[in-house]
Amino acid sequence: MDDAAALAHAPTDLFIGGEWRPAGSGRRFGVEDPSTEERLVEVADATPDDGAAALAAAARAQAEWAATAPQARSDLLRRAYEVVTDRIDALALLMTLEMGKPLADSKAEITYAAGFLRWFAEEAVRLDGRYTTAPDGKSRLLVLQRPVGPCVLVTPWNFPLAMATRKIAPALAAGCTAVVKPAQQTPLSMLAFAKILEEVGLPAGVVNVVPTTDAGGVVEPLLGDRRARKLSFTGSTSVGRRLQELAAKQLLRTSMELGGNAPFLVFDDADLDLAVDAAVLAKMRNMGEACTAANRFLVHGAVAAEFTDRLAARLGAMKVGRGTDDGVEVGPLIDEKAVAKVEELVADAVDRGAGVVLEGGRVDGPGHFCRPTVLADVPRDARILHEEVFGPAAPIVPFADEDEAVALANDTEFGLVAYACTRDLDRGVRLSEALEVGMIGLNRGIVSTPSAPFGGVKQSGFGREGGAEGIREYLSPRFVNLQA
Ligand code: NAP
Repeated sequence: MDDAAALAHAPTDLFIGGEWRPAGSGRRFGVEDPSTEERLVEVADATPDDGAAALAAAARAQAEWAATAPQARSDLLRRAYEVVTDRIDALALLMTLEMGKPLADSKAEITYAAGFLRWFAEEAVRLDGRYTTAPDGKSRLLVLQRPVGPCVLVTPWNFPLAMATRKIAPALAAGCTAVVKPAQQTPLSMLAFAKILEEVGLPAGVVNVVPTTDAGGVVEPLLGDRRARKLSFTGSTSVGRRLQELAAKQLLRTSMELGGNAPFLVFDDADLDLAVDAAVLAKMRNMGEACTAANRFLVHGAVAAEFTDRLAARLGAMKVGRGTDDGVEVGPLIDEKAVAKVEELVADAVDRGAGVVLEGGRVDGPGHFCRPTVLADVPRDARILHEEVFGPAAPIVPFADEDEAVALANDTEFGLVAYACTRDLDRGVRLSEALEVGMIGLNRGIVSTPSAPFGGVKQSGFGREGGAEGIREYLSPRFVNLQA
């Protein structure tokens, strides 16, 4: 399939109450290819009234969906998994066009995204409860799990499908309906997925999708609407904090998957071949535009020079280009602002005395391309060590011993993920307990899997997606005290 064919088949209207419809205002907005800066298609631009109609549809569908047999919900998710998997090539092309990542990365994301559909298809029929005798022996206590109700799901542009299925699959498995607000820069993958849900028989109103250029105008009123029962948000800490404040007004259940500042620790006993492979993956997956991206490399002084040279050689050899072209490993960043942010943080570190080992940076347009940079001996007050770089720049900081490494790793307001390379199992256990994060990659550059709880602590948020924990975010325990 070529680009034109992929776009010709892409749905571009709102999906509300089982119908594809234009925005109430009739307005549409352009979706751009970040590698050409050309407009790909125009998508319906939801208004606050469209958002309200979507929530009304979700609320109408809620009782019937909650009463659907778990096996039927499971079968539907399983069918969706199969269709997404069958159509991986077409979905990957659409994702690469709207987001820029290389086709191989899009396929990896779609496999990961589909994994949530399969995992929660399996979880839908495993919801448990409890039956106990009250301690005084006078009654019986039953505990059952009920769906929380209609959910508002807000997703970012960096993983346009996986961030959606990570929320939609457990919501549907639990018996919840949803309004989904995808990122305005990448609505096409989510709309294509909504079409697949329709094809596999999702009842009208169970999932509604409202792309918009007015995120606050559409989403914020929903958080004050008593029919909404849950907000799950993935995005920046600043927007998450604002939505959390608004959600507090009616004490909405919330899950917050927010920003990161992952440390990547390399100890002097590490297998350096493995450490460099893991570092390339942790830094460069998604061009560094991942909440889990290694943001700071903390390396023992004894191996810092060798690790730095080897990492620079690997990143310098990566092919930068359009994600649809053969052999490309680094696609464009999402927009001009993203390139400028990388430039700004690199310039700040160099001004403060960091050494440039691999000089990367902006590539002339069109397209928002940025070559990888590696910086050595980065001073500890450099902004790049404290802010999310969200791009292909790797700052390296040497450390002297484990205590210093842990202190540096924890010296951040964020706490999503940390990576550590060491051959010492005792040290691995100590680090697993000492690092203030929700997830740890030990001798690995990637941690995410549908079968384990993804999420953070501190300013990286709370709540977990995936694993046995993922479905609990969409359930409320109810207990019945039975006289017997
Ligand atoms: P963002 O600016 O916070 O946007 C995320 C989503 O929120 C988008 O759909 C956005 O819509 C929407 N939004 C913005 N303002 C809103 C408002 N006032 N009310 C309701 N919705 C609003 O974040 P981003 O730049 O797209 O994504 C990058 C961030 O996401 C990074 O910080 C990254 O670490 C984080 N992230 C975290 C995880 C995780 O699991 N912890 C995973 C992936 C990404 P628009 O598209 O219209 O702006």
